[in-house]
Amino acid sequence: MRCPYCGSTNTQVKDSRPSEDHTTIRRRRICADCGGRFTTFERVQLREMTVIKRSGRRTQFDRDKLMRSVQIALRKRPVDPERIERMVSGIVRRLENMGENDIKSETIGRLVMEALKALDDVAYVRFASVYKNFREAKDFEALLGELAATDDEDAPPAKPAGKTAASAED
Ligand SMILES: [Zn+2]
Repeated sequence: MRCPYCGSTNTQVKDSRPSEDHTTIRRRRICADCGGRFTTFERVQLREMTVIKRSGRRTQFDRDKLMRSVQIALRKRPVDPERIERMVSGIVRRLENMGENDIKSETIGRLVMEALKALDDVAYVRFASVYKNFREAKDFEALLGELAATDDEDAPPAKPAGKTAASAED
């Protein structure tokens, strides 16, 4: 495994341990050339999937990219990283179970929105605002109204992240 800091391939595994649900092996590695430490995850991949973007462009499905857009939506939100891992794994399994090798980016976006809605309202609004590409304030208001109707306890979510948030596979 190549060192992400200096590019050396002279890296060693210091520690391996399975995740709580034993679907992942986490390995801590150290670079013998620069001393950099990093972590890799080993997972079962049931099938190779291709994402079809709205433009028609095809790209290989990338779990890390999905994770990054989810993490951007969840930035500074009080959500346990382990739950985020499980959520992303769940989305990937659902995609795999669809049995199709070609997956529309809209399908991924829809699953992410469903999962975020269950996990964190603020992250959901952030993601949805980018994913649905809302341009008008009334769209946000409609969405916030929808959330308020389903959850009385929380204060209204903060302003959506806007341009800084990423979209899923798009
Ligand atoms: Zn290095």
